[in-house]
Amino acid sequence: MATPLQFQSIKLYPRLTRGRFNAWRVGFVLLTQAIFFLTPWLDWNGRQAVRFDFSSMRGYLFGLTLLPADLIYLAGTLILCALGLFLWTALAGRLWCGFSCPQTVYSQIMLWIERGIEGPPNARRRLDAAPWTLAKLCRKGLTQAVMIFFAVATGWTLVGYFSPMRDLASRLVSGETGSWEMLFALGYAGFTWLLAGHLRESVCKHMCPYARFQSAMFDGDTLLVSYDARRGEPRGSLRSLAAGACVDCGLCVQVCPTGIDIRQGLQYECIGCAACIDACDQVMDKIGEPRGLIQLARLAPTTPTSARRWWRRPRVLVYGGLMSMLVVAMCVGLMLREPFRVDVLRDRAVMARETPDGLIENVYTLRIQNTLPQTRRYALTVQGDGVVRVARRQPLVAPGDGSASIELAVAADPAVLASGSHPLTFELVDLSEPRYRVSEVGRLLMP
Ligand code: SF4
Ligand code: SF4
Repeated sequence: MATPLQFQSIKLYPRLTRGRFNAWRVGFVLLTQAIFFLTPWLDWNGRQAVRFDFSSMRGYLFGLTLLPADLIYLAGTLILCALGLFLWTALAGRLWCGFSCPQTVYSQIMLWIERGIEGPPNARRRLDAAPWTLAKLCRKGLTQAVMIFFAVATGWTLVGYFSPMRDLASRLVSGETGSWEMLFALGYAGFTWLLAGHLRESVCKHMCPYARFQSAMFDGDTLLVSYDARRGEPRGSLRSLAAGACVDCGLCVQVCPTGIDIRQGLQYECIGCAACIDACDQVMDKIGEPRGLIQLARLAPTTPTSARRWWRRPRVLVYGGLMSMLVVAMCVGLMLREPFRVDVLRDRAVMARETPDGLIENVYTLRIQNTLPQTRRYALTVQGDGVVRVARRQPLVAPGDGSASIELAVAADPAVLASGSHPLTFELVDLSEPRYRVSEVGRLLMP
């Protein structure tokens, strides 16, 4: 048996199958790839709809501009994804792995490429076993070239989520891409080619941590791909009257991307792709038996209340409730969020200085971050005991989608304030939309 890579003991040649679950899988592959490849090309209000710009520390999500202070929403989104995965696993076992995990999706695409160039499993097996000839070299080389082309396309598309996509595409054509972009794109492409093109099911079986702990989220009501042994056994040929419904054709094993036999019971290698269900349903159709010898079924015995209990379980309700609360909290937070932020930094080089008129002056830098696409003007008020005046040379203006640093000096009367540190409140109001106002506290030092 061929061993294409040292850490993959046996190369599998899964057959492609047809059926309702396969249609879902193909649909998921096309949908996820369409979203992934097209999103960086979408524009929204004159700028790339989805982009994370590390140089300006801003993220653009359609109409939203996210600043470093909004990392809380990123954390919330990650928690939401994790809870969604837990919920989905509690409801339907490993269907995430079998249908929408990037490793599965990319492996499926690589399998299609291999199938398209090298033929069905038997032809691929023969080709791998054959001695190296020019024809074999060309065919294998073409397979790898197409896989690498796809992997490189995914790598550059991923970079397009961080660099402006249209600009990146034109620089790519003229060969003027930056070194980090090249490193990132080729690194991601290399991993895609290695993990999906070569390691495939080994990643699910031996490397994915999620495969190890997700069984802890199963219970008797979780839907899992399972073989109905009571109906199928004893397996045997159609001609044997004593035989069960399983004709032992082995098709369920041949289509399995992880090479397991689901008839041996639930195994951690099963990624829940349901290819064996489609394959067995076809066999059942051919021999005139009802479908469902392999099916998505609950582990616990079925009772009249099973269907109702399937989603009304404590863990499902807890995950669903937490997700709903998180979504509501994030939506409310985003709706109430002001479209600009201000940070007040005290000039540490100038502690406090005396002015010619006998006041004590502290110097600050206001950093205004405007998330709106238009230039905005602001009005500033500084409140605090003993504050006499606020002086600045620059206008309080921040460019659209940009930031401005404004120096100002706050003078206070030493007759009113004792020596020490005193609180100040800086309030900035958007002159075009006075309902947008942001306050920030600072400290005034009196010597
Ligand atoms: S046993 Fe069936 S569901 Fe599990 S990985 Fe194999 S083909 Fe997919
Ligand atoms: S595909 Fe169905 S009938 Fe064929 S071996 Fe598998 S379980 Fe038995």
